Amino acid sequence: MSRPIYLDAHATTPVDPQVVQAMLPFFTEHFGNPASITHAYGWEAEAAVKSARQRIAAAINATPEEMVFTSGATEANNLAIKGVAEAYFAQGRHLITVQTEHSAVLDPCRYLEALGFEVTYLPVRPDGLIDLAELEAAIRPDTILVSVMAANNEIGVLQPLAEIGQLCCRLRQGSGIPLLHSDAAQALGKLPLDVQAMGIDLMSLTAHKLYGPKGIGALYGRRRQPRVRLAPQLHGGGHERGMRSGTLYTPQIVGFAKAVELALETMTAEAERLQGLRQHLWSQLQPLPAVRLNGHPTRRLPGNLNVSVAGVDGQALLLGLRTIAAVSSGAACSSTSTAPSHVLKALGHSDELAYASLRFGIGRFNTTAEIDRVAKGAIATIQSLRQATDLSGYVR
Ligand SMILES: *Cc1c(COP(=O)(O)O)cnc(C)c1O
Repeated sequence: MSRPIYLDAHATTPVDPQVVQAMLPFFTEHFGNPASITHAYGWEAEAAVKSARQRIAAAINATPEEMVFTSGATEANNLAIKGVAEAYFAQGRHLITVQTEHSAVLDPCRYLEALGFEVTYLPVRPDGLIDLAELEAAIRPDTILVSVMAANNEIGVLQPLAEIGQLCCRLRQGSGIPLLHSDAAQALGKLPLDVQAMGIDLMSLTAHKLYGPKGIGALYGRRRQPRVRLAPQLHGGGHERGMRSGTLYTPQIVGFAKAVELALETMTAEAERLQGLRQHLWSQLQPLPAVRLNGHPTRRLPGNLNVSVAGVDGQALLLGLRTIAAVSSGAACSSTSTAPSHVLKALGHSDELAYASLRFGIGRFNTTAEIDRVAKGAIATIQSLRQATDLSGYVR
């Protein structure tokens, strides 16, 4: 039996074959530890890591010294949020984030609340974007960190980061707070990111959402104006300037850099192509009654379509689509739980409507023919579920 069409690019993406090729020599031939300074094996690995670090930093207009490699965006978010809280608690114990953030931001914040920090979780408007005036009103003299994601992993909306950066800069005190952190796991390689122009102090990245390997990511931390202080969360051999101990995972780091480069080379054309496919899918689903788009219609990731289908059972909808398309109703990390998506709830959806939602994540290897097949399958599933509901209503 053939597998369903993969349309879950927000959960993860396949590794691009060119990325695999770049990684392979670093498993076997160039296997050295980049921290081994006494021999050529170490030097080779160190040179590869250095080059990768430069290329990844350049992709967000940062310097190589500002990058700390981590196991992914979850770890980068933890390091940013807990690391700042621990380093700045003498200046303040208040943090601001948004209700629609990834759990890798929300959970460290809840952890800090248990330790005595105070967190404001900003609501979003019905289109998924935050209100800048509400953010400004929430910032207090003791606010040390504002954390707002670049692109949402469920509804794809792009928060007004540059404006948020300007706001944090304007309200910044002599002590350099509040700092601005952004989880850019979904945005890297898909939208232009520039930490200087956008005024971002900390940024979390990951490779596996952009056709790189799983298990590698990075945290950017600004080194000047202001210089961000971070308390390390992993202690040991003092790697990454003491910010994150642990032997560097050379093949993954090489793959991460290659994936970033490939994504940047094709970014504009690929964004247009994905937007076209998204529009193609939406134009077929939109005519169905009571199907609505979640999130801002244009300020969103090019490959993201998230729709709610009123009047059908969410479980049945996913089951019906299971053999046709690999999609989800919410984030992959919470799809094991039965709770409705906190992101859709923040948009004001009822539990039923949140359950009856589909997240399509269109990616690099999807084709128009695939989108057509998925659209057909989705329409047939929705219509048959609605018919069944009508019939059972009729029988009763
Ligand atoms: C996938 C994702 C994460 C988690 O990244 P990992 O590298 O898998 O730890 C965090 N934030 C967002 C927005 C994501 O999409």
